[in-house]
Amino acid sequence: MTVPFEQLPEKIREIAAELGFQAVGITLPETGVHGEYLQKWLAEGLHGEMAYMADHGDKRYTPTSLIPGTLRVISARMDYLTAPDSPAEVLNDREKAYIARYTLGRDYHKLIRKRLVQLAKAIDELVQGHDYRAFTDSAPVLERALAQRAGLGWIGKNTMMINRQAGSFFFLGEIFTTAPLPIDTPYEKDHCGRCSACLDLCPTNAFVGPHKLDARRCISYLTIELKGAIPEELRPLMGNRVFGCDDCQLVCPWNRFSKPSGEQDFQPRHSLDNSQLASLFLWSEEEFLARTEGSAIRRTGYEGWLRNLAVGLGNAPSTIPVIEALKARQDHPSALVREHVAWALAQHRGRS
Ligand code: SF4
Repeated sequence: MTVPFEQLPEKIREIAAELGFQAVGITLPETGVHGEYLQKWLAEGLHGEMAYMADHGDKRYTPTSLIPGTLRVISARMDYLTAPDSPAEVLNDREKAYIARYTLGRDYHKLIRKRLVQLAKAIDELVQGHDYRAFTDSAPVLERALAQRAGLGWIGKNTMMINRQAGSFFFLGEIFTTAPLPIDTPYEKDHCGRCSACLDLCPTNAFVGPHKLDARRCISYLTIELKGAIPEELRPLMGNRVFGCDDCQLVCPWNRFSKPSGEQDFQPRHSLDNSQLASLFLWSEEEFLARTEGSAIRRTGYEGWLRNLAVGLGNAPSTIPVIEALKARQDHPSALVREHVAWALAQHRGRS
């Protein structure tokens, strides 16, 4: 098939839409000022225990160091919210577990990577002989910086990529290609304006300032990345958020424009969108492994799962199911779990 050079981006967008992507942009393999921001952020130690963020030298912010020969980066967006959903209702019910919306269904990595490879193969029919690599949160790549430069939106004060028509509840993926495709115009506007709702609302005050997150205070980091004990002073602030946190997105006015995804894989599994903390806490390890098979929640491990839920239960109302669930785990073999359970029970004793 012969498509005129200047019409290639439109053709690629057409194919991408058929593959379930809501937007696609093309940019040069450069991240501009974002590389400097990353280095400064790392130098300040704001990444906490995420050593992998600093592990790859300049590869994370120089796409041509990661994949030599890359001429263009194709950035693709896939929305993930499902309908009907009532995140605020779950968040406000302290006996329920709030789990970040991106992780309620099947792990997105495989699905998005597969679609990106399909897209790259289709591009190969248009521009023969190009080499490509497809990534979605699977390699050291500054995804949001590349997406901004590919015209998909701006990076909000909450550090999320935001699109005026779609909000921020979406995944990003990239194809690094040697095809010299026409590039899109970077998205230079910033529509946050004078709003600071995300910075003001963050439960743990994790934002040092606009566009700057102290990961060590971020609930996503505390519940997913951190391996040891959660700092005690942060536990009461975490409420019922047991795997990730969406507060800085839920409060963002641009998320009025989020649209539900039709992807079956993103549909919540095992009622994880609306479950009681106590019932999740009573899952055996076998149940945890069975019910999180193919889910990103596996990443925290069973011990981390119980640790997080114990904190949620410590912040829950002192009802019989809450207290009984905690007591059932008082003698858990893991010292980490026992310590968080003891903390949670002390919260309830303190209140009574
Ligand atoms: S809540 Fe306001 S400041 Fe924060 S990202 Fe959204 S628009 Fe920007």
